[in-house]
Amino acid sequence: MVSISNTIQNWYKKNKRDLPWRHTSDPYRIWLSEVIMQQTQVVQGTSYYLKFIKAYPNVKSLAESSQEHVLKNWQGLGYYSRARNLHFAAKQITSDNDGVFPSTYSEIIKLKGVGEYTAAAIASFAYSEPYAVVDGNVFRVLSRLFAINTPINSTSGKKEFFKLAQSLLDRKNPGEHNQAMMELGALVCRPKNPDCNNCPVQFHCEAFEKKSVTDFPVKNKILKVKKRYLNYVLISNGEEILVNKRTGSGIWQGLYDFPVVESNKPIFEIAEVDGIGVKGARFDLELKHILTHQHLYAKFWILEQEQMTEFVDYDIISINNLEDLPLPQLIVRYIGESDFFKR
Ligand code: SF4
Repeated sequence: MVSISNTIQNWYKKNKRDLPWRHTSDPYRIWLSEVIMQQTQVVQGTSYYLKFIKAYPNVKSLAESSQEHVLKNWQGLGYYSRARNLHFAAKQITSDNDGVFPSTYSEIIKLKGVGEYTAAAIASFAYSEPYAVVDGNVFRVLSRLFAINTPINSTSGKKEFFKLAQSLLDRKNPGEHNQAMMELGALVCRPKNPDCNNCPVQFHCEAFEKKSVTDFPVKNKILKVKKRYLNYVLISNGEEILVNKRTGSGIWQGLYDFPVVESNKPIFEIAEVDGIGVKGARFDLELKHILTHQHLYAKFWILEQEQMTEFVDYDIISINNLEDLPLPQLIVRYIGESDFFKR
C-alpha cells in the first residue's frame, strides 16, 4: 500500500510553489528563510528573504554587520527578537566555528532562537537528517487526518503530535516529506475553507469522514490580549529631534522611538517626561496598533523648543536621519501620517 507520506510527496512534486529557498541546500539560506517565514505571509517573507540574502550573503557577513543594520533591514516584519537572535547566532557560528554552519540537529538546536521546529527543518532540508517538522500547517493536517482532540497548544498535545509526525516520516527523504506536509497544509488543508475535494489524502482523513473538518485543530484559549496606553512626546527644535533607544528585554529592544510615558488608561494631556515639565506639548494624533498579544493605544504630542539637552537620557539626531534608524512599525506609521514630518 502506498504510504500517506508517498501520496503527499507525489502531490507535492506536481503542485509545489516555486519559492526561492527551495532552490538551495545551503543551511544558512534555509535558516534565514525559516526564521523569516515564521508568522509571515509568503509574499512579504519572500521580499525580506531576498533582501537579507543580498545584504548578508553568508553567515560571516551577517555576523559582521551591526545589530542596528540588521534591525533596519528587518523593519516592518515584526517579532524583532527573531532578528536579534539571527544576528547573535551568526556571531556565535563565526566565533565558535569560523562561520561554518553546524551540520547536525543537535548542534543546530543550540543556536540562539532555534527551536525544535527550525532545527528539524534545517537538518532535514540541508542534511537529510530524519527529523519531522511540526509547524502550524503540519499540526492542522495531522489533527484532521487523525481527528485528534488533544489541544495543539498544550504540552501533551505537542508531545503527541511530534511523536505522530515522527512515525509518519519518510526517513529516506525527510526533507521532501517535511516540505510536502507543510505545503499540503498551506495550499489544501487550509485553516479556513480546506479544499478537501482536491486533497490527495482525503481517503485517509478521519475528520473528512466524520464531516467534522472545521472542529480541528483543537486549541486551548489563548491569553487575553493586553491593552497598553503609550503617550509619546516628540521633542524637537525644528531641525533635530530626541530619540529613545529601547533597552531592556521588551519586544522593541534595539529599536528607536521617542520619549514615552505609559499610562494605565487613556490620558488627555501630558504634564511631564522623566520629571521634566512638557506642558506646552500639543496633541498631534492617535494610533491604534495591533500586535499578537497586545493592543497599543498610542497618542503623540509635539513639544517644540530650542533647548533639548535637559532630557539627558535620549539621543539628539537630525529629523532627516530619523528614518535611517530601525523603528517599530507603529513609529513608521506615525511618521507617515503626521503633518509634522511633511514640513
Ligand atoms: Fe485536510 Fe480535507 Fe485533506 Fe482532510 S481531506 S487532510 S481535512 S484537506
